[in-house]
Amino acid sequence: MKILVINAGSSSLKYQLIHMETEEVIAKGTCERIGIDGGKLTHKAHGETFVIEQELPDHTAAISLVLKELVDAKAGVIHSMDEIDAVGHRVVASGEAFTKTTLVTDEVMETMEVIKELAPLHNPAAILGVNACRAVMPDKKMALVFDTSFHATMPPYAYLYGIDYDDYKQYKVRKYGAHGTSHKFVSQAAADYLKRDVKDLKIVTCHLGNGSSISAVNGGKCVDTSMGFTPLAGVPMGTRSGDIDYAAVEFLCRKKGMSMAEGLTYLNKKCGMLGISGVSSDFRDLCAAAEQGNERAQLALDMFAYSCKKYVGSYMAVLGGLDVLVFTAGVGENTPTVREGICEGMEAFGIKLDKAKNNFKNDGSIRDLSAEDSRVKILVIPTNEELVIARETAALL
Ligand code: ADP
Repeated sequence: MKILVINAGSSSLKYQLIHMETEEVIAKGTCERIGIDGGKLTHKAHGETFVIEQELPDHTAAISLVLKELVDAKAGVIHSMDEIDAVGHRVVASGEAFTKTTLVTDEVMETMEVIKELAPLHNPAAILGVNACRAVMPDKKMALVFDTSFHATMPPYAYLYGIDYDDYKQYKVRKYGAHGTSHKFVSQAAADYLKRDVKDLKIVTCHLGNGSSISAVNGGKCVDTSMGFTPLAGVPMGTRSGDIDYAAVEFLCRKKGMSMAEGLTYLNKKCGMLGISGVSSDFRDLCAAAEQGNERAQLALDMFAYSCKKYVGSYMAVLGGLDVLVFTAGVGENTPTVREGICEGMEAFGIKLDKAKNNFKNDGSIRDLSAEDSRVKILVIPTNEELVIARETAALL
C-alpha cells in the first residue's frame, strides 16, 4: 500500500509518498515560500534531489507541481496516479466537529468549509489541497487527520477560557491547540531516543515553524498547549500576533477603522515577526537581516525567544518539573540562535545548552544538545507528522 501524505502549511507544503508495509519514504519534498516571491520545490527520490525554482502563487499551484513531479520520467517514482492507494491530509483544526481521523466525503468537506474559520491560515490551505487532489484523482480514498486530536487530553481547567460557562457550552469556545500530530510524534520519539517509557517523562515540546506552538506533555499525554481556539494564540509567529489583550485589539480596530473581520486578518497575516521586523515572516530572512544590523529584525527574534521561554517556564510549573525539552519544525530544527535565546538564563531550572553542540547543521537526525551537567535533556527531533498521518490513513482504510 502506498499513501500520499499532504501537509499544507501557511507558506509551505510538504509531501511524502510512503510505502506502508516498510514505512519507507519513496519520495518526499517541500514547496517553500508559497505566496511570497522565490517559490521552490525540492523533490527527493532515488537518492537524488531535484530542485525546481518556480513561483508558487498558491497551494493549488504547489500540489499540481508535486503530482507532476511524482510521475515525471526522471524524478518520478510511480507510472501513474493508480499506484497511490490513498491520500492523507493534515488538518490543523477540527473544533468539536471531528475528534478522530475521518474519510473525505462531500458532506465532510461541507463541514470543513464551515469550520475553516477556526484556522484561517491553515484550514483553507488543507481544503485547497483536498480539492486539488480530488480533481486529479476523483476515485482516490482520502483521509483528514486532525492536529487537534492529541490535545483532547487537556483537563478543562487548562482548556477553558475565563468566559461565561454557558457560552462555552453553547458555542464550544475553548482552547483546542494545534500541531498535535507533531507534538505526539516528537514526545514519543524523545522517549524512544532516551530508551525511556514515555509514561515516566515530563516533556515540553516546542514546535517552532512559520506557525509555532509549545506543549506540556505528561506521561505521553498533552496537558496544556500554547495555541488556543485557533492557531492565532500563543507565541508571536511568522505573521500571527500570538497572545494579545483583547482590549488592545478593539482599540486598534477603532483607531485603524477596521471591522472585526479585518482586525482578525490583520492579526493573522500582518503581525508577528513580519509586523515587528518590517522585513519578513521567514526566520532565515530575519536572521540574515539581524546579522547585518537590522535592529527591528533582532527585536522580532528577541521577542520570539522571550515568549517561547515564558511558555517553557510556565509548563515546567504545570508539569512539576521537566525531563526533556524538545525542539522541532523549520525554526526549531534549523535556527541555533533561537534555541540559544530560549535556553539562555534557564540554568537554574536545570536547562543547560551546550553551545558547540547547538551549532550543528540539520541533517535530519536526532541531536542531544544538553551540556554534560544539564539536568534536563535538550533534544532536536525532526518532526515526522507525515508518518503519523500515513499510519492513521492506512488504519482508517
Ligand atoms: P510551517 O509548516 O508552519 O509553514 P515550517 O515548519 O516549514 O513552517 O517552518 C518554516 C520556518 O522555518 C521559516 O521561517 C524558515 O525561515 C525556517 N527555517 C530556518 N531554516 C530553515 C531550513 N534550513 N529549512 C527550512 N526552514 C527553515
